Amino acid sequence: KDVLLEVNQLQTAFKNDKGEAVAVEEVTFRLMPGETIGIVGESGCGKSVTSLSVMRLLGSSGYIKQGNIKLEGVDLATLPESQMRKIRGNDISMIFQEPMTSLNPVFTIGNQMIEQIVLHMKLSKKEAKKYAVSMLQKVGIPRPEAIVDEYPHKLSGGMRQRVMIAMALSCNPKLLIADEPTTALDVTIQAQILELMKKIKDEYNTATMIISHDLGVIAEMADKVLVMYAGQVVEEADVYTLFDHPKHPYTKGLMKSIPHLEHDQHTRLASIPGTVPSLNQMPKGCRFHSRCPYALKKCTSERPPLLPINDSSHQVRCWLYEDQQHDSNAGKREVL
Ligand code: SF4
Ligand code: MG
Repeated sequence: KDVLLEVNQLQTAFKNDKGEAVAVEEVTFRLMPGETIGIVGESGCGKSVTSLSVMRLLGSSGYIKQGNIKLEGVDLATLPESQMRKIRGNDISMIFQEPMTSLNPVFTIGNQMIEQIVLHMKLSKKEAKKYAVSMLQKVGIPRPEAIVDEYPHKLSGGMRQRVMIAMALSCNPKLLIADEPTTALDVTIQAQILELMKKIKDEYNTATMIISHDLGVIAEMADKVLVMYAGQVVEEADVYTLFDHPKHPYTKGLMKSIPHLEHDQHTRLASIPGTVPSLNQMPKGCRFHSRCPYALKKCTSERPPLLPINDSSHQVRCWLYEDQQHDSNAGKREVL
């Protein structure tokens, strides 16, 4: 199988009054057809910027400064906007946390879906409407032939997210990007939407990037995981390795906080004391050092690279694992 998406040393920056702020850097990953990658971290860690870079939806102040983003070998980072427009909604679709921000309140569900289907699939309006109804049915909307003529505000949050999924999948994208797709929903509905996404992903073999602050969502959905902190990937592993053998002190901090998650997001953040450094004032050395209970002297001055653990695909950006790459006795150094 060929690689679907290859992100290489991505660096994305935003212009601001101080010049520019680098929001993500050195982000590298690959995604195979049908595979799901989860990107997890606190707000401001760069996970959304990473996905918006792939979509090239960075607004007027954002730009890809370095690196490339290859979709089936074509570099999206340098593609003209006119071609990028054809890729969005066709090869790559996106669903967001709050469907109301992407659904237009003045058009019926059907009209919004039909517009996109006609544009990308070259169907007649009549055929497109039939197809829209079948997609609504597929995502579990009851009475789809009636709902297709309703306005978005008539639907519950969960139903609106189902509509968004139907819209996102209607052009059979190769890649689906879901940014906090269930964060605005209550826990029961959240579980139903995740279930639906898994079912559809399997049926269409759609590769998925799922962005979440919630490790529970990531555990449920992802094959492999990037943990991001302050604009960098601090750990990468397949989902089983990450949850069974987390290495980075930040990842471990996130793990400890899982039981609190459903009750109160603030409890979770409090479990790792301190705050994320601001983009304009990145500390020297390891960006996590002021919050890290294991910080060594060199952590305050030397920047740790992302290094593989024992030559595996498990990678961690932390000086504690400096000796663990080829040295079989290295486990003894693991004090955590
Ligand atoms: Fe903590 Fe140092 Fe590892 Fe950073 S490099 S996570 S400060 S131990
Ligand atoms: Mg976000």
